Amino acid sequence: MTFASLGLSDALTRAVAGLGYDEPTPVQRATIPVVLRGGDVWASAKTGSGKTAAFLLPILEALRARPGGSVRPVRAFILVPTRELAAQIVDSIQRYGQHLKKPLKTCLAVGGVSANPQMLALRGGADIVVATPGRALDLVHQNALRLDQVETLVLDEADRLFSLGFADELNSLLALLPTRRQNLLFSATFPPAVRKFAEQLLHEPTRIDVDDGELPSTEFILQRALQVDVPRRTMLLRHLLETHAWSHVLTFVASRYTADHVALKLNRAGIVATSLHGELSQGARTRALADFKAKRVRVLVATDVAARGLDIAQLPAVVNYDLPRSTADYVHRIGRTGRAGDKGVAISFVSAGTEAHFRLIEKRHQLDLPREQVPGFEPTEEVSTTTPPRDPNGGVKGRRKSKKDKLREAAAAAATRPPKQGP
Ligand code: ADP
Ligand code: MG
Repeated sequence: MTFASLGLSDALTRAVAGLGYDEPTPVQRATIPVVLRGGDVWASAKTGSGKTAAFLLPILEALRARPGGSVRPVRAFILVPTRELAAQIVDSIQRYGQHLKKPLKTCLAVGGVSANPQMLALRGGADIVVATPGRALDLVHQNALRLDQVETLVLDEADRLFSLGFADELNSLLALLPTRRQNLLFSATFPPAVRKFAEQLLHEPTRIDVDDGELPSTEFILQRALQVDVPRRTMLLRHLLETHAWSHVLTFVASRYTADHVALKLNRAGIVATSLHGELSQGARTRALADFKAKRVRVLVATDVAARGLDIAQLPAVVNYDLPRSTADYVHRIGRTGRAGDKGVAISFVSAGTEAHFRLIEKRHQLDLPREQVPGFEPTEEVSTTTPPRDPNGGVKGRRKSKKDKLREAAAAAATRPPKQGP
């Protein structure tokens, strides 16, 4: 099977050939013809299976085949949960669209940076907008972005966008779109709680589920669970970095504080590390990721902002220094490695206090990993089987409320509070 046989024209097939894509992946084979026909799609496919091209290629094809006029209303609107993922998708659009005769205009609309350049860029219209929900809404309110001509809506990492933290913004945006439109939903995971949102949003969708399990193919990712006491985790991480020839390693932690702290400790030990989390300026976030992708930094210590969708070439290892709070995020995190045919290892640190939570993760993903111990790092803390698990990291059960969630709750409470009686 070739990209051309799926209905893509020469400019696009040449671009993917130039990128070394020999043939379409299963999710691309299943999705591209449906999108070209104009149908709705609800696709679940493993991390690293090529979902981005599955929606971008047919969108570019459709925009190419039916060029707009000179006003350029936004015709494709792509929503994603993180700024870094949005930037990565804009890059992919540029690479896939490089041979198009009439170039398509793409705008990035994400928070953390000044809105002015984005407003300026949108002034002459845009064929495609790739956005995070908050900034997209801001730009609508500033009259810089109009969504009433959108033909195709994409929600990438859709389950994350349906989650509580984004629900209000997402609903406000959906209300601005024309009711007749194409909807494309992509994610590696669709927890039952978000399925009803998907069902409401989609119109007679083609359900594409190219693999029965949600886990990234285990033949490419070796998963390991190392037992270690909480205070010895940084030492163990150092030890792993010293004993493995990993070119670079993505380490996930539970908090912004831990990200900075672990990165600092590693740097002091002579290992080039940097942190990535939501409290950094957008400039620092972009730099951290760029340095890591370019291998100028060996260890990126990140919160779950880096769990979704990021495509880091030849990443040999992911370490869960802290376990993810949400069991679904385990899959997204470890799926940053073992991509596009490369092999990877995913190591989770399990302590006495988090053993019960790790069992939950294993149960959710039908895993049964042997608990390993590294000589010199044998745990001394006891796993308690009678009392509830201790919680050294501020709670691993359920998603913790973010600063944004709290602000939203406060705003919602203020909106429902009865108006104060005047004197
Ligand atoms: P997903 O969104 O499913 O996690 P991505 O779309 O980020 O995966 O793609 C993962 C990697 O696979 C990227 O580096 C991408 O360039 C590469 N890729 C995508 N499609 C193909 C293909 N048909 N052949 C080879 N590599 C591909
Ligand atoms: Mg993706």
